Amino acid sequence: LLTVTGVRKAFGTTQVLDGVDLTVHRGDVVAVIGASGSGKTTLLRCLNGLETPDSGVVAMSGGPRVDFATRPPRRAVHALRDRSGMVFQQHNLFPHRTVLQNVTEGPVVVQKRPAAQAVAEAESLLARVGLADKRDAYPAQLSGGQQQRVGIVRALALHPDLLLFDEPTSALDPELVGEVLGLILELAREGWTMVIVTHELQFAREVADTVVFVDQGRVLEQGPPDQVLREPVEERTRQFVRRLL
Ligand code: ATP
Repeated sequence: LLTVTGVRKAFGTTQVLDGVDLTVHRGDVVAVIGASGSGKTTLLRCLNGLETPDSGVVAMSGGPRVDFATRPPRRAVHALRDRSGMVFQQHNLFPHRTVLQNVTEGPVVVQKRPAAQAVAEAESLLARVGLADKRDAYPAQLSGGQQQRVGIVRALALHPDLLLFDEPTSALDPELVGEVLGLILELAREGWTMVIVTHELQFAREVADTVVFVDQGRVLEQGPPDQVLREPVEERTRQFVRRLL
């Protein structure tokens, strides 16, 4: 579904991504782990064009294929964005819009879908995550876990091929983490294709088909969770997982 080849990105003199290759098959759940500052978030943002790589190729099956070596047309970058749904560390909901308005904004304004259809679908998605009664609430009236579940519903409402999660629980109080991870796990079991940047290694082990360890802007090691998290080949992976597991 997604192929990333040789993606490089520098901020000033810092080479944050230093030639990342990554393949995500349809239905796969890929967990991206690595130390703070290793480039995980930047990588995720490069996958959907929120960040523009200096070079490298990001391609999705059936198109688009975006080569960043030459300045790609905006159209191609937008096409990339249209096929993925992003869930941020902080939910990024619009504070002055209700839950329902937050969820229907993308489908109606960006995707030009009929409002009645978008509302019906948003209601059914909200019901699914146990938030039917919050449709007219404002984000500030929800708990952090509820806000993040709305953030996930907002991504689902766009019918993306790929879901991207950027440390979806790192801003939550510990007692709220479970409800968000539980929802992500359910979506994974339903067959959604996902790339999840996470510090929760136990969760990565449970949810992922592939764990990717990013170190200094490169993929140092990847493989099934049991291999990467229990029997890593690389010394730096070993040090990292030993500290966190
Ligand atoms: P964390 O786990 O702490 O979120 P990360 O692995 O996701 O870290 P990134 O957020 O991708 O790492 O950041 C990698 C490096 O790039 C950091 O040194 C960061 O300061 C730098 N960086 C990220 N975004 C920008 C930006 N917009 N401008 C300048 N530097 C940036």
